[in-house]
Parts: sequence; C-alpha cells; structure tokens
Amino acid sequence: MCKISIKDNIVEIENRIDQAIKRADREDKVTLVAVSKTQPIEKIIEAMNSDLLDIGENKVQELIDKMAILNDRPRYHMIGHLQTNKVKYIAERIHLIHSLDRMSLAAELDKRAKVINRSIDCLIQVNISKEETKFGLYKDDVIPFIEQVLALSNINIKGLMTIAPFVDDEKILRETFRGLYNLKEEISRRNYKELSMDILSMGMTNDFEIAIEEGSNMIRVGTGIFGKRNY
Ligand SMILES: *Cc1c(COP(=O)(O)O)cnc(C)c1O
Repeated sequence: MCKISIKDNIVEIENRIDQAIKRADREDKVTLVAVSKTQPIEKIIEAMNSDLLDIGENKVQELIDKMAILNDRPRYHMIGHLQTNKVKYIAERIHLIHSLDRMSLAAELDKRAKVINRSIDCLIQVNISKEETKFGLYKDDVIPFIEQVLALSNINIKGLMTIAPFVDDEKILRETFRGLYNLKEEISRRNYKELSMDILSMGMTNDFEIAIEEGSNMIRVGTGIFGKRNY
C-alpha cells in the first residue's frame, strides 16, 4: 500500500477548484477548509506545511485538544453541531462558526464573546434539503432568525452554510447548492446594515466542484485531503 501524500492531494484539489472556478466564469476566490476531524496532529501539520491555513473540526473536545497543540498557527473552523454549554471552551480562539442554527446558541456566543471583548464570526447553517437527520434552519426561518440575531452586538453574521444530502444525484446536489445561493442573494438584497453575506460554505470531498459551480466560496474537504477517517 502506498502512503498518501497530503501535499499531492492538496495540489490536486486546488487544481480542481481552479477548474471549477473557470467553468463557472468567476473571478473570486474559494477558501479550502481542511476538515481534520479524527486525523492526527502530524497530518494536520503536514497540511499546514502545504500552506493550508484553515482547519475544520466538528467536535469541541477534539477542537480544544488540537488548539492546545497547534496554538495560533491555523484558523479554526467549527463545522459541527455546537452545544451551548461548550461555547465557553472555544470562544477565544475560534475563527468561524459554520453551524449557528438557533437563538439560544447565538445568545451564548454573544455573551461569551462580550466577556473576552471580541466578536465571533458565524455562518447560519441552513437545512436546504429538509432532511430530518440534519441540523440547520429551514430556509423560511432564516430571515426571521437574522432579524433577531442582529440585536446581538458581539456576533457577526458572515454568510450561510449547508450540508448537501449524501447522494450521487447531481441534480439534487445542484438544487441544494442553488437553493442556498438564492437565499444568500435574497438576504443580500435586504441590505441589513450589520450583516454581510460574503461567505457561502458548501461543498465537501464528493461534491465541491458542483458547489463551486453553484457559487460556493468556502469548501470543507476532509477525506479528499487526509484520506479515510478512522473512527
Ligand atoms: C466531515 C465533514 C466534512 C468533510 O467531509 P469529507 O466528505 O470527508 O470531505 C465537511 N463538512 C462537515 C460539516 C463535516 O462534518
């Protein structure tokens, strides 16, 4: 069995990102978040040595363990469901929360951010495909949610995130990603003063090219960079 090269994987993914951007006739950039859940520190360091700055984790305990070792080298993304009582452990160092999906979490993030005199950047997680197994707000609930969250001064809404259904059907994937893109456009048109819709976090190893073609500018790639996860 040959050893996988994280560096080669990253180069390949970056090429595929560039191609997808070209196909979509876009000129902006796509941020690659390396999803390092279950992966050992050595592999993350290898990724960072290939100039990857952003790492994503979905469990608070694992995130804080990795923060303790890697310190401020990477930018930390919380991409998984976040329990309110765990916010305090990550409030100081988190770069971006992708999974803001309820008011109690928003209030806790705002409170913890105030205590340490910072503001925390967040994406609203949207369940476009309405799968019952998935977290995230339904599309129709996002604008009322935003209008509540705007009152909180220490969290910044930066955009939206979704997880597509785990299917190979390109049509379903496109519809999901397009749904999030259209929602972003609808929110942007409302010109809320204290909010930006700059980030659209969508696309994973199996669907990131389609996501980019549909407007994603932040993709979350795990197995495509690190190989299979060991749970
Ligand atoms: C695990 C995970 C990913 C990465 O999945 P891959 O298929 O390994 O690329 C992306 N986003 C979220 C929210 C995840 O939990």
